[in-house]
Amino acid sequence: MRRVALLGATGSIGRQAIEVVAAHPELELCALQSGSTSLEALAAEHGVDHVRVGGNPVPLLEASRPDVVLNAVVGFAGVRATLWSLEQGVTLALANKESLVAAGELAVRARERGGGVLVPVDSEHSALHQCLEGRDPRTVHALVLTASGGPFRSRPRAELESVTIDEALAHPTWAMGPKITIDSATLANKGLELIEAHWLFDVAYDRIDVVVHPTSIVHALVRLRDGALLAHLGMPDMRVPISYALTYPERAATNVPPLELEGLRLDFEAVDDEAFPMLALARRAAARGGTMPCAYNAANEVAVDAFLAGTIGFLEIATIVEATLERVSGAPARDVDDLVAADAEARQLAARGLQPA
Ligand code: MG
Repeated sequence: MRRVALLGATGSIGRQAIEVVAAHPELELCALQSGSTSLEALAAEHGVDHVRVGGNPVPLLEASRPDVVLNAVVGFAGVRATLWSLEQGVTLALANKESLVAAGELAVRARERGGGVLVPVDSEHSALHQCLEGRDPRTVHALVLTASGGPFRSRPRAELESVTIDEALAHPTWAMGPKITIDSATLANKGLELIEAHWLFDVAYDRIDVVVHPTSIVHALVRLRDGALLAHLGMPDMRVPISYALTYPERAATNVPPLELEGLRLDFEAVDDEAFPMLALARRAAARGGTMPCAYNAANEVAVDAFLAGTIGFLEIATIVEATLERVSGAPARDVDDLVAADAEARQLAARGLQPA
């Protein structure tokens, strides 16, 4: 029996994870945490004793002794669970990409010390994990992340000025929570995923490419040094990467329908950096290193909240992130307290950017 602690239990990933656990007799839920939603009914239904709403998940994890932590928390709030799991040598099924973006160096060191196994749940990174497994890193030339392009793909910048919250929340291929859906519309999600891929697979940023692929059938590709290009294809259904991470390396069966190949067309196009500057901003933050990626993430979280609250327009998300990155020091974090301070500083600066001039 593999004991699963599920953090972010009531979100989109959390609900699908409960479905995956229920369908697999070797998996059982040992702990549930949500940000603010009550878990009473869910805990009773699944017979889970260790439950927590909000706050630091570490006491819950310590008490419930999981074999796998599925971190599906939204945003920087997931950072302590990520570091704890890697430090304790527990398998971390990571859907909370923000924690790896903000705490990349600390996470790598925690994994070296604790020996935790990190299996990504993000669909692109799950695909890369599968394409790279067992491969000599010297044979890998480049990684390619695919981006659906979101609801505003192929729209020029001028048209994005006045798009509404509902339009931004209408993702063409993936059904996800509001934060990641807005990140997909701005391409900040791909910026976060670029940094996530760097820390997961130890590949330099200039060897991680992004290409727009509107149907989200190809989840990622790996270019090998002999010219071969490996692609991972599948339906855009998060139950597959969730199941892969929770049952790794066994790869349990799922009831997701197989991909039909007849009539399948695969289209790819370049990213429009002018209309969607969040990806290029992520590259700049990544190149500067230290806590710059942490600041990028923090400013983005503040700006996305403001957009969803109707306080700012769609294009202002990137404006606020760019202005914040110009003002933070970006000095490296020695520990999680430094990181929390860098996150808070960036949030304050971003919030100041929301005030009318
Ligand atoms: Mg993804």
